[in-house]
Amino acid sequence: MTVIESTFGRRMTRATGALELMNDLGEAVAMSGTQPVHMLGGGNPARVPAVEAVYRRRLAEISANDAQFGRFAAAYSAPAGDPGFRAAVAELLEREYGWPLASHNVALTAGSQTAFFALFNLLAGERQGDVPSRILLPLAPEYIGYADLGLTDGLLVSRRARIEESGDGFFKYRVDFDALESIDRVAALCVSRPTNPTGNVLSIDELRRLDAMARDRGVPLIVDAAYGLPFPGLQYAEPECLWNDNVILCLSLSKLGLPATRTGIVIAREEIIEAVTAFNATAALAPASTGPVLVEPLLRTGELLELCRNTIRPYYEGRCREAVDELRAACRDLPLRIHQPEGAFFLWLWFPGLPISNERLYRRLKSRGVFVLSGHHFFPGLDEPWPHAQECLRINYSQPRENVVAGIAIIAEEVRRAFQED
Ligand code: PLP
Repeated sequence: MTVIESTFGRRMTRATGALELMNDLGEAVAMSGTQPVHMLGGGNPARVPAVEAVYRRRLAEISANDAQFGRFAAAYSAPAGDPGFRAAVAELLEREYGWPLASHNVALTAGSQTAFFALFNLLAGERQGDVPSRILLPLAPEYIGYADLGLTDGLLVSRRARIEESGDGFFKYRVDFDALESIDRVAALCVSRPTNPTGNVLSIDELRRLDAMARDRGVPLIVDAAYGLPFPGLQYAEPECLWNDNVILCLSLSKLGLPATRTGIVIAREEIIEAVTAFNATAALAPASTGPVLVEPLLRTGELLELCRNTIRPYYEGRCREAVDELRAACRDLPLRIHQPEGAFFLWLWFPGLPISNERLYRRLKSRGVFVLSGHHFFPGLDEPWPHAQECLRINYSQPRENVVAGIAIIAEEVRRAFQED
């Protein structure tokens, strides 16, 4: 017996990849009392002491300043989010990239996950007097968190990426533009750049082609830069990014080391910002101001971008190189391919011919205290079977080094066992 009987209730409580991922974070903590746990799942960023020192300093400043403390904790912000922070974001983007932005082009949300929930359902779905429209994800694999956001079925449509192998154990996904042409009922395009789970960074040419395709269809292009430019700047390839009045750029404070502040940032033309603002007012009254008040002066003085360039990015690049070396050494007798790690803090592993499904491998690893994400979750909107989707795993290499090294050793053992059992 359940009282959760509404269509909305059932939709929001079904078993989803995102729920499994977030539950794993809790389970890992519980398991760690009885056995060693190696957390290579989830999307938590690293705790970098030099970065946290800056946030701790800001907290002391806020606590000593009555006006800042008032904004931080004691008042609802405007439904679009803290005005000072929104202006600081617009100024930073104008300064860095020359984009003509003002605070009316910026709205905040409770994490960027909430922005995608709002945007997908504001733009696509059932329409009066017409067939339902959809969000086109131009290439799968794509971010697990998009998968179950639709308030109606069939909200997402995607196509397989083209696989380009470079012969050195790395491969790269590319957009298959021909496959996108015949897709109809598209209300918006959406890509994560850098991509979670793969660490892919779409080239600026690919992005411009998607932008042109969106304009031709008269729909917006959503670019999810949760890991990208200008902050946290975990974009190791392709230094360029894109905004124009047809682009909805989504940023976040999470991967700067502040996921608990739940701060998402939407940069778009006014019509879109007004819709997100109305959604905030209806669903939550206002977004949180803790993250915005903490970070605003760091945006204005340039300290945040310096921190990104000189501390955060080099930290993750170093961790990435180590994880690739560890994996290659641990899997030297196995058919391992790694997606070119061009951004974010994940490695996407492909074991061609893996004799068991990645979901089974995920469960075997979990029973040994190693949390990863099974790749099959990362193909939202793909309605055709693709064996490749059962052969991939995502690991997060941002957690303490000894955990990552021990986790990789167990992954290699379990993959070897799977091939030996075959
Ligand atoms: N977009 C991508 C690609 C992500 O990986 C995540 C979280 O991991 C999000 C958006 C949502 O992040 P948040 O809601 O913490 O801003």
